Amino acid sequence: MFDIVIIGAGPAGGSAAIFAAKAGKKTLLIDNDKSMTKRAWMENHYGIMEISGPDLIETGKKQAAKFGAELVEDQVTNVTKTEQGLVVETAEKGSFEAKHVILATGAVTALAETIGLKTKDGTEPRIKTIVDVDAQGKTNIDGIWAAGTCAGVSVHTIITSGDGAKVAINVISELNGERYVDHDVLKTN
Ligand SMILES: Cc1cc2nc3c(=O)[nH]c(=O)nc-3n(C[C@H](O)[C@H](O)[C@H](O)COP(=O)(O)OP(=O)(O)OC[C@H]3O[C@@H](n4cnc5c(N)ncnc54)[C@H](O)[C@@H]3O)c2cc1C
Repeated sequence: MFDIVIIGAGPAGGSAAIFAAKAGKKTLLIDNDKSMTKRAWMENHYGIMEISGPDLIETGKKQAAKFGAELVEDQVTNVTKTEQGLVVETAEKGSFEAKHVILATGAVTALAETIGLKTKDGTEPRIKTIVDVDAQGKTNIDGIWAAGTCAGVSVHTIITSGDGAKVAINVISELNGERYVDHDVLKTN
């Protein structure tokens, strides 16, 4: 049983996986390698002078793995509820049990619709449909959250990655029963 399964390893999902794994949560990141960010070149991501989309994604996946996140390349086909929690079904690699699921599927909401998540019209350019989430990132199904482009935030890497972190922190806080903060302190001599 994973604490948190994240679907989509773009900036939103990758960032969520870093926070979840670093918090000691058993984390799985599943991705089908169709990120829109693979075509991007960034010069507006705070703290990074310039980076290609593929490099940003690969670095994010490596960071998540460094903290213990497991990575699986596959297409998620459905998420269903059971008495124990949630079951994430994939096309080729079988099913994974989870306490919480974060959808970070970018511009694609087909999976959300298959799951039965409530959707609504998008407001950002070229984003037709988004998952209907509350301010925390919760969807209409208990235990399923959404972050990044599929949750309707502005389509920029600094914002989608920040939204992934925000939603992960909310999930971690719910699992811990108290607000969670992740601060490392600079060591001085
Ligand atoms: C050409 C282009 C240029 C851009 N330039 C910039 C720029 O200069 N600056 C900037 O800030 N932003 C830029 N962006 C926007 C940036 O890419 C997005 O803001 C951001 O990366 C979206 O992040 P995301 O994680 O929400 O979605 P994505 O990066 O699209 O990630 C979603 C992931 O979910 C996966 N997925 C979807 N469905 C499933 C499923 N069923 N099972 C498994 N995996 C699934 C996809 O494969 C993908 O990897 C650009 C975008 C494009 C297309």
